[in-house]
Amino acid sequence: MSTLRFHAIKESLANKPVLVEEKERRSDLFGKNVFNENTMRQYLTKDAFIGVMNAIQYGKKIDRNIADQVSSSMKDWALSKGVTHYTHWFQPLTGTTAEKHDAFFETIGNGMAIEKFGGSQLVQQEPDASSFPSGGIRNTFEARGYTAWDPTSPAFIYGTTLCIPTIFVAYTGEALDYKTPLLRALNAVDNAATDVCKYFDKNVKKVTSSLGWEQEYFLIDRLLAASRPDITLTGRTLLGHSSAKGQQLDDHYFGSIPNRALNFMRELETECMLLGIPVKTRHNEVAPNQFELAPIFEEANLAVDHNSLLMDIMGRVASRHNLKVLFHEKPFAGINGSGKHNNWSLSTDTGVNLLAPGKTPMSNLQFLTFFINTIKAVYENEELLRASIASASNDHRLGANEAPPAIMSVFIGQQLTKVLEELEGVTKGKLSPEEKTELKLNVVGKIPDVLLDNTDRNRTSPFAFTGNKFEFRAVGSLANCGNPMTVLNTIVAKQLIDFKKEVDLLIDKKGLKKDEAVFNVLREYIKSTKAILFEGNGYGKAWEDEAKKRGLSNNKSTPEALKAKISKKSIALFEDMNVMSKIESEARYEIEMEAYIMHIQIEGRVLGDVARNHIVPTAVKYQNILIENVKGLKEIFEENYKAVSQEQINLIEEISSHIKGINATVTKMTNERRKANAIENIEEKALAYCYQVKPLFDDIRKHCDKLELLVDDEIWPLTKYRELLFTR
Ligand code: ADP
Ligand code: MG
Repeated sequence: MSTLRFHAIKESLANKPVLVEEKERRSDLFGKNVFNENTMRQYLTKDAFIGVMNAIQYGKKIDRNIADQVSSSMKDWALSKGVTHYTHWFQPLTGTTAEKHDAFFETIGNGMAIEKFGGSQLVQQEPDASSFPSGGIRNTFEARGYTAWDPTSPAFIYGTTLCIPTIFVAYTGEALDYKTPLLRALNAVDNAATDVCKYFDKNVKKVTSSLGWEQEYFLIDRLLAASRPDITLTGRTLLGHSSAKGQQLDDHYFGSIPNRALNFMRELETECMLLGIPVKTRHNEVAPNQFELAPIFEEANLAVDHNSLLMDIMGRVASRHNLKVLFHEKPFAGINGSGKHNNWSLSTDTGVNLLAPGKTPMSNLQFLTFFINTIKAVYENEELLRASIASASNDHRLGANEAPPAIMSVFIGQQLTKVLEELEGVTKGKLSPEEKTELKLNVVGKIPDVLLDNTDRNRTSPFAFTGNKFEFRAVGSLANCGNPMTVLNTIVAKQLIDFKKEVDLLIDKKGLKKDEAVFNVLREYIKSTKAILFEGNGYGKAWEDEAKKRGLSNNKSTPEALKAKISKKSIALFEDMNVMSKIESEARYEIEMEAYIMHIQIEGRVLGDVARNHIVPTAVKYQNILIENVKGLKEIFEENYKAVSQEQINLIEEISSHIKGINATVTKMTNERRKANAIENIEEKALAYCYQVKPLFDDIRKHCDKLELLVDDEIWPLTKYRELLFTR
């Protein structure tokens, strides 16, 4: 095994940056492989074009005749670009993307063949769904599910395949993917927000939810990564002593990007341009070999698709550069992990960002309405929001020794805190003309359109207002953004509906003017949601104690966090908003709990194997060298040998004690796994994995990492942290 380590090191040192040429301008490349509005104008008949645009903008159904025209044009376009296959591209609940390629090619008898792609093939397919997670919705023997075209996300070409974004549902209609509930949530927030906008501007017909994600990741030499069974099988290191140098010098963050990584990024960005993914920012992150990539924000459904697509492409491009991308939230102990900030906002079809302060008092009142309602939505549903980002891998960030914490809170900055304080003092009921003028001129009217302090520099807030958007920072780097985006948009939709009811009641029953009613309802919201606002350092015990007093949840582990998904309140919320049925909510809970269990199970097995079959034999080997040495010294020095061999003898003993520690704990862990596996109830089982199995990882690791410090480097089998993190 140690030979694999040294072989990998030798080969990796020989890896040179792979040359990348960028001949065309990015703006020329942009969207070249996308069946976007521009391409559709060229290829579609006028009827078909209008049909698709109506589906995109207003959710109108596409009839069969139009679908036939669209598919035929899509095929012509794809063939003109050398495409041979098509696939329905979807996001099952495995967390990755799925595709099954079919050739356009078809025989028509008499030894002849043509390229064919009909409307029915565009609109619907029936992949064998039995091997995708369904949480018991679909019995495997009636393995029927189908994918259906989502015209709101344009088809694209990857390699020689035409990819058609689709939803994935069971034959009984339940969603089996991330996209279906997301589309329903986006629809819910559109309706609810449009209704509220009408208080301020009657012309608003549609509200769109936007998402700009920031993808963090590690880039490791491919051979070095492959030399580690833990990275290969679990995406993270399960052991390994920290490197003498880590991130303490802060010399990587925003530093010059290493050449191999830079060339990887350039090729990746070219691919992104062709696919219409508007990537814009790239830089080094805090930890060595950690980087970040961010696009210009887009409509949320498209942004989610683009992030899933990007993660897939990153892996492929990386291997061409002899690199491996690690998306895991905590691939290395002792240095920063990776997240995926989800920047979120709502905007109208009249071009207004509802989360940006405007120039007039009225537009600011609209801004405050959406701003305060979002805060209220988070306050009312903080536990569900926490659940939306729960996973075995994200547990290493949230609630572990890393910000943000598992406690959801909202950062709004000093200026807006002051505005809310002033609004809290608004008179109950009707307002005097003087008060109204005062409010409009000096409170609402004085909100600057650039909010200077809205950066939350300590970066510990999981949900921060950053000037013209909220930034959900607790999302994990490995996550599909569809999950948190579904929850966020659903809770805001529900909140806006409640808000409108309350305002209308004041107008109808109490005879208040519209703006008076809005002020009155907002005032009560400000008073009742204070517990969720937090500007301080969210990292550590002080905030945990404070949050407890405030009644905020602090679910540190996935099994505890996920429970909120099936609370009566959450199930009712998703049903009310037509986002998920009870069956769908329960199925998702089950799927995610299962995934949690399996992740910990796999990690436990890998760790047991590596510790016992790689580390212990190496330790014994080194111990034997020491024993030979002591024997030799005894031969030379006879009864005086102790004076010259005491250190070696100590080492021999120390190694034995670590070997004992490893063996005993691995045995204990295996027993705990066995016990956990026998548990029927999924919640109890997950908790057993969380609290009985997983804590033993740390003990095993401690012994292994100590041995790494003792044993001769020449025979150590696992590629070390310094080699993984500082090979560029
Ligand atoms: P950082 O958070 O690192 O300071 P930026 O604030 O520049 O970075 O933006 C991060 C991400 O937020 C980008 O993807 C950007 O497109 C996105 N973003 C900017 N404005 C909005 C908005 N109104 N709605 C959603 N996302 C936005
Ligand atoms: Mg950010």
